[in-house]
Amino acid sequence: MPTRDLISWNSLLSGYLKAGEIEIAREVFEKMPQRDLVSCNAMIDGYGKEMLSLGVRPDAPAVVSVLSAIADLGFLEEGKWVHNYIFTNKVHQSCSFIGSALINMYAKCGRIENAYHVFRSLCHRQNIGDWNSMISGLALHGLGREAIEIFQDMERVELEPDDITFLGLLSACNHGGLMDEGQFYFETMQVKYKIVPKIQHYGCIVDLFGRAGRLEEALGVIDEMPFEPDVLIWKAILSASMKHNNVVMGHTAGLRAIELAPQDSSCYVLLSNIYAKAGRWDDVSKVRSLMRKRRVRKIPGCSSILADGKVHEFLVGKAMDVGYNQSVLSMLEEIVCKLKSEGYEPDLNQVFIDIEGGEKESQLTLHSEKMALAFGLLNSHQGSPIHIVKNLRICCDCHRFMQLVSKIYNRRVIVRDQNRFHHFDKGFCSCRNHW
Ligand SMILES: [Zn+2]
Ligand SMILES: [Zn+2]
Repeated sequence: MPTRDLISWNSLLSGYLKAGEIEIAREVFEKMPQRDLVSCNAMIDGYGKEMLSLGVRPDAPAVVSVLSAIADLGFLEEGKWVHNYIFTNKVHQSCSFIGSALINMYAKCGRIENAYHVFRSLCHRQNIGDWNSMISGLALHGLGREAIEIFQDMERVELEPDDITFLGLLSACNHGGLMDEGQFYFETMQVKYKIVPKIQHYGCIVDLFGRAGRLEEALGVIDEMPFEPDVLIWKAILSASMKHNNVVMGHTAGLRAIELAPQDSSCYVLLSNIYAKAGRWDDVSKVRSLMRKRRVRKIPGCSSILADGKVHEFLVGKAMDVGYNQSVLSMLEEIVCKLKSEGYEPDLNQVFIDIEGGEKESQLTLHSEKMALAFGLLNSHQGSPIHIVKNLRICCDCHRFMQLVSKIYNRRVIVRDQNRFHHFDKGFCSCRNHW
């Protein structure tokens, strides 16, 4: 059981930290096959205590790496603490990377306004890293137009963009659904700035066409690019085929992706989901048995939420702290009931195993982000937004569910999934259903 593994890794980690064995703890941390909020919080805490007890001041690279760990996990409070620490101790003056690390941290913690604030206070330095982080941060929030504005400012002050600038910009166009702009900047990059696109830039364009359902054009880009397509590119085609119900293309892309990354469970899962959606249950079981044969494990959906200064985790189907199971389940039942009276219908297409309708519905209700949301509604004040971090991509049903909850319960809900942020408010999501 993967749950078991994570729990025992975490207890091993905290054991070393409690014993003051920071070096060994760091080694354990780096070896962990999977890390969650609990493991990283323990690590940051351990480092913090170490620095205090030895009276050492962390140098700039240490601060940058702590900030990036915080960013990956979305720990806003810790991030603010480090921000404050940096300015009190003037760490930022000696290092040009700190600014972009801070912008990155705020963007990844869901506070794009704070990222803007840091950026505005630093942009006079004309340090390309600060600008690039701002553009990538906006991309993460699907703010394509705003990213383009930053880029235009950059051109105005004659700061030369680099390949990372364009990667951020193309990804912003991609997440913002800006088809024409994406193509325009892909060309600008090559013609005006003479930057040779890397495979990641092509990947953005493939994804842009794919999401828009223009799969033939996406394949055209793959044919023309001077690289062999990598697993990310095939996964983009695979997701697009899933979204636009193209079983033939999904089949090809799926096989190529699996060939390139035989241990990556998400390729198998996507492919079997495409078959399931088309009702091809024989093919579903073929993919599943291939997974079993190769001992590839599906990563279970896991969502975390911070309440009362503590991280609470939910694994698809159950709360990690069993004490909450009952209250969360009754709350979920209540929410579903309320939502149904407002027209919510569970999207059973999101359940990719061949079971009866009623059973499908209860499986759907137990998706980890729904459980985290129910917990959030039970354990936070009316008026405060609910922040959820999920390890995988949010499914269409959970997305719809969050939209309705934001309207009916009059709550802002912010979900960071594997790819990006979704800000739900008054029934709408910031991604405008494009993710
Ligand atoms: Zn879901
Ligand atoms: Zn969304």
